[in-house]
Amino acid sequence: MWADTHCHLDAKEELNENDIRQAISKGVKRFAIAGVTGCSGESLHLAKTYREIYLMAGIHPLFIHKTDETSMKHIQKIATENPKCIAIGEIGLDYYGKNVNREKQKTVFREQLELAKGLGLSVSIHLRRAFPDFLEIIRNYSGLIVIMHMYSGSLEFAGQLLRVLPDIYFSFGGPAIRANAHKAHKVLKGLPRERILVETDSPDLPPPGMSPPNVPSNLPKIGAGLATILCMKPTEFETLTWKNAKEAFRW
Ligand SMILES: [Zn+2]
Repeated sequence: MWADTHCHLDAKEELNENDIRQAISKGVKRFAIAGVTGCSGESLHLAKTYREIYLMAGIHPLFIHKTDETSMKHIQKIATENPKCIAIGEIGLDYYGKNVNREKQKTVFREQLELAKGLGLSVSIHLRRAFPDFLEIIRNYSGLIVIMHMYSGSLEFAGQLLRVLPDIYFSFGGPAIRANAHKAHKVLKGLPRERILVETDSPDLPPPGMSPPNVPSNLPKIGAGLATILCMKPTEFETLTWKNAKEAFRW
């Protein structure tokens, strides 16, 4: 059985329930839908309808301007009351682009880490071009289970994170199975295997050779590609990442 540890199945313009059913029939038996401006009504509906679907609530660093004071309360309410909410995410830092407000991003990130800490929930991290600031903040949260979604950093940085966060996981998707993704291949081979997860991030980031939208049924294909890089059998990788996901989300 496969676990998609990060996806956006609530993106209704690009995905529909047929895509979900197809993924389930291909062996994807757990999904974690990430929140970007809290948690969407569609995510709540899907988590209620499908046993296989779980959700996260959180504010993505590039969507802060689309939220207000009520958003954090909404996240807290869902994270406290909905048994299918298994993490705060996706949260983090993204300094790509000219007009990002770094201070505001750091404040909102810290607030959400505090929330996760208080509730004992895992966090799903979006991180781009902000590695030093991220490390400075996250090192104060060594008790948290941290999931690095679509990890794009170096093996050295992963090593630094592993030293401060004993419960950290690194998740990989379509971009990592590209033949020329040498950095990702090096990271994969260098990480302890019990720290590796797989995801689609559907409908974004389709695997090489496939056109958008990315669909959740691509997960076994992505998993098989990652297994090849690690010189593992796809079934071994499937068992490994299923177990790792279970520990990361405690679902
Ligand atoms: Zn995402």
